[in-house]
Amino acid sequence: MPFKRNLHERSVYQEPAPIRDHDDPFQSMVERFDIAAEILELDPGFYEYLITPSRVHITAVPVVQDNGRVKMYEGIRVIHNEVLGPSKGGIRFAPDVDIDEVKALAAWMTWKCAVVGVPFGGAKGGVRCNPREMSAGEVERLTRRYTANLIDVFGPDRDIPAPDMNTNAQIMAWILDTYSMHSRRTENAVVTGKPILLGGSAGRKEATGRGVMTVTLAAMEREGMRPDQSTVAVQGFGNVGSIAALLLAEQGCKVVAVSDISGGYYNADGLDVQAMIDYVEANKGSLEGYQQADKISNDELLTLDVDVLVPAAKEDQITKQNAADIQARIIAEGANGPTTPAADDILNSNGVVVIPDILANAGGVTVSYFEWVQDRQGYFWTLDRVNRRLDRSMRQAFDNVYDAAEQYDVSLRIGAYVLGIDKVATALQMRGIYG
Ligand code: NAD
Repeated sequence: MPFKRNLHERSVYQEPAPIRDHDDPFQSMVERFDIAAEILELDPGFYEYLITPSRVHITAVPVVQDNGRVKMYEGIRVIHNEVLGPSKGGIRFAPDVDIDEVKALAAWMTWKCAVVGVPFGGAKGGVRCNPREMSAGEVERLTRRYTANLIDVFGPDRDIPAPDMNTNAQIMAWILDTYSMHSRRTENAVVTGKPILLGGSAGRKEATGRGVMTVTLAAMEREGMRPDQSTVAVQGFGNVGSIAALLLAEQGCKVVAVSDISGGYYNADGLDVQAMIDYVEANKGSLEGYQQADKISNDELLTLDVDVLVPAAKEDQITKQNAADIQARIIAEGANGPTTPAADDILNSNGVVVIPDILANAGGVTVSYFEWVQDRQGYFWTLDRVNRRLDRSMRQAFDNVYDAAEQYDVSLRIGAYVLGIDKVATALQMRGIYG
């Protein structure tokens, strides 16, 4: 076909850069960082060092479509900080991936690893694409080319990806294979969240949701709430939301509402979470058409009269527009960055306990670390061992954050930032600035 440039196109990339109607997520991270930095009386030079991403990679990813035509996608990998160890962070495939989002997510990984005591730095990656409109073959080619473009960035001792929104164990297997083809040996420690047969860890798939459950129960205990007398709403029914909902239900909570991109589903008598997971598996990953519940909007779900709210979808869901209407006593942030700084102020003054993302969803990176350790030892743990260590680690991290918040008389979020930043700053002090 002859070459014909469409002069009206704004970009060569398949998905245009998103226009955000909320705060820039990196700015949201910096606003919280500033408060913690002031409490810690952080040296101004260290302040600059710690908010600055160490490396930003932007790469053009060409993909041959099933119809033979080539489409271009924008791939991003941000290494925020490597002071505590090799960088670690998920890769997301979504239409609204952009550089500010990935920079924020990478920084959150740095603080998260420090909060739960995992010896990794922070990174994040993404490709702006719409995997729902792509075939499995197209997603595979996109994954392999993105990996090949970043082959000198990734590595078991350098930078270790994991799943995030719209990426899963299969995609991690393609990353592992592509990396291994280039390095001429199987390198299963280059990614985590891969299939168990390829060196994945028992319990990794459930780890983030399990961690959300553990810290939610810990917060309920501190608040004098009983699981069997508590109701829960969960926004997002993917890896994190569905498992958090299932495990909280197993602990006796009544899960009355869940939602996904198709909308919200409500049943005052409690939803059958396992049946909904089975439905999603059989229905191309969607709750669309689920009948055993009343349909509500995603906005309604957030402001339901429940005891616990678990946002487990994406950033900027609880904002100054809806924060005053939130009725939950506890918010456990399964997602990264679901609450804006302006919303935090409103929630704090209303006495809502927010278990922050960098603590609440750290179960995933904790078991990713266990997976990496198992790969490097070539010796694999039982599910029971993984879960016991995860529970202990999350419980300890919750108590540490709670104590820091009490000590400085701040929210759990700022308590977590203080803990995380202090650890990385102390490590930086010990290592010194090279050059
Ligand atoms: P996923 O792709 O498995 O699931 C995302 C879910 O959110 C899907 O059910 C989707 O339909 C739903 N969703 C998307 N937009 C929505 C909207 N506007 N309203 C309601 N639902 C919506 O992704 P995931 O891995 O579960 O990740 C979810 C969040 O958790 C992300 O913020 C991610 O960064 C964070 N997280 C994930 C992990 C992990 O191990 N997977 C670890 C830590 C944090």
